[in-house]
Amino acid sequence: MARASKSAKAERTKEILDLLDLHYGTEYVCYLHHENAWQLLIATILSAQCTDARVNIVTEDLFQKYQSIDDFAEADLKELEQDIRSTGFYHNKAKNIIACCKDLRDKFGGEVPREIEDLTSLAGVGRKTANVIRGNIYHEPSVVVDTHVKRISKKLGLTKEDDPVKVEYELMKVLPKDHWILYNIQIITLGRQICKAPTPRCEECFLTAQCADYQKRRKAVSKGK
Ligand code: SF4
Repeated sequence: MARASKSAKAERTKEILDLLDLHYGTEYVCYLHHENAWQLLIATILSAQCTDARVNIVTEDLFQKYQSIDDFAEADLKELEQDIRSTGFYHNKAKNIIACCKDLRDKFGGEVPREIEDLTSLAGVGRKTANVIRGNIYHEPSVVVDTHVKRISKKLGLTKEDDPVKVEYELMKVLPKDHWILYNIQIITLGRQICKAPTPRCEECFLTAQCADYQKRRKAVSKGK
């Protein structure tokens, strides 16, 4: 019985991935504008609790003003706070960016490291940011759990967890490695276009047959609950 439900979940996961590939393609895209690894690192730190669109507006001027890791490491805290103010949580973000760039300069020879332990040792860098770098810069299979991935993976029934790190580990078990990076890109698109919070547009969704949340609601309606 357990084996049957495991293989049913694997089959359903495959159907979900096939449909995501069909509708959103398999091209790797990064929604945060950047020209190199350290710019992506800073953009990702800024993206916490902020839209990618807002971050892209801010970094357009920011990366003109601060053109290197050294420039950020030597930045004046109050001035940097004002430069990034519109991304929110700017006191912490500015402090972390300066500390992070000092470590990049002093401990990593001015390079953004590749290993997750090194990345997460940097100020302001958690597993999500580290996985963004590993996936986009180093093309290491990585599952990035952002707000869309956490919310929609739960709806689809691919995880029951709430904690992002637990979601990441669970998704690594159910998704084939060649979809670890893609899944995040595709789910962000689904979250922006169809499976919006707080009200998903299920009537427009191509995953209704596979979505655990949709099927649960449908059964409840048909039972007259
Ligand atoms: S069916 Fe509805 S809840 Fe499920 S993924 Fe699609 S939009 Fe989201």
